[in-house]
Amino acid sequence: MPRKNEILRLKGILEKREKCLINFLNDGQLSIDQLKTQECKDELDFAELSFDTFNEELILTRLSNELKEVEYSLQRIEKGEYGICEMCDETIDYNRLKAKPYAKFCIICREIYERENKER
Ligand SMILES: [Zn+2]
Repeated sequence: MPRKNEILRLKGILEKREKCLINFLNDGQLSIDQLKTQECKDELDFAELSFDTFNEELILTRLSNELKEVEYSLQRIEKGEYGICEMCDETIDYNRLKAKPYAKFCIICREIYERENKER
């Protein structure tokens, strides 16, 4: 179980992200300009998205999936289950959570999970 102050910090990140995602998704109108000028743009990770192949549907799908993950993580914080790997019950490394606050698996299980999903 991660330390309480670490969880609080991560909770803050998650809540900020949740707000940004909801604002963005509720706005309806999506454009490249909007993405660039969005005050929350630092909160949303568009790094993997290429603006050359701007795909509104893809972005919206991604962001709504992310919102689900974020909300799920916040629920887990409430229940005191946050930061524990769902596969092996080990504590997820804080550095990993900092990079990806809604991570559900530890690094080892994540690899197994991805490998299994690729095989299917
Ligand atoms: Zn694990």
